[in-house]
Amino acid sequence: DNLTSVSVPRCFEYALRLFQARLRDTDIAVEFHWPQGDVWVRADLVRLEQVLVNLIGNALQAMADVAKPRLMLSIEQRGDEVVLGVADNGPGIDEALLPSIFEPFFTTKSPGSGLGLGLSISSRIIDDLGGRLRAENRPQGGALFTITLPCDHTST
Ligand code: ADP
Ligand code: MG
Repeated sequence: DNLTSVSVPRCFEYALRLFQARLRDTDIAVEFHWPQGDVWVRADLVRLEQVLVNLIGNALQAMADVAKPRLMLSIEQRGDEVVLGVADNGPGIDEALLPSIFEPFFTTKSPGSGLGLGLSISSRIIDDLGGRLRAENRPQGGALFTITLPCDHTST
């Protein structure tokens, strides 16, 4: 692994860059809920970016049929931890399936549009960083994925 001090907002920006064309050509509103200053975690930048790409990609796929799609990205410092959120206003996750979505090859998508590996790999990556990846349904509708990581004090 390649652990360094990673700026969380910058990591989100890198991940979003991959979706730039798609976000420009559609009417998806991207909302940023995060503090003014920088927030740092100790992580492998490329791997954390990969997790964010997986979560954002899932959110965009989930909102394919939503009239006013909203992608909500958040960063919150909670004591010694940083919580990163990726939320959407899609259909959410069937409560009965929630415990299974992190299993390898679990997918509700048609063959070709999903292998079912994104969340299992992502959760491995976050575990390896000493954090956790959680999924829940938002009370307002849609899914919320949160990554909790220990914050990095060395660069503040
Ligand atoms: P894939 O995207 O290839 O299906 P993932 O591991 O990324 O595999 O996701 C597994 C499953 O979790 C998806 O098939 C879907 O059922 C569910 N899921 C993931 N993200 C969302 C989301 N934002 N909204 C609704 N369901 C989701
Ligand atoms: Mg996926």
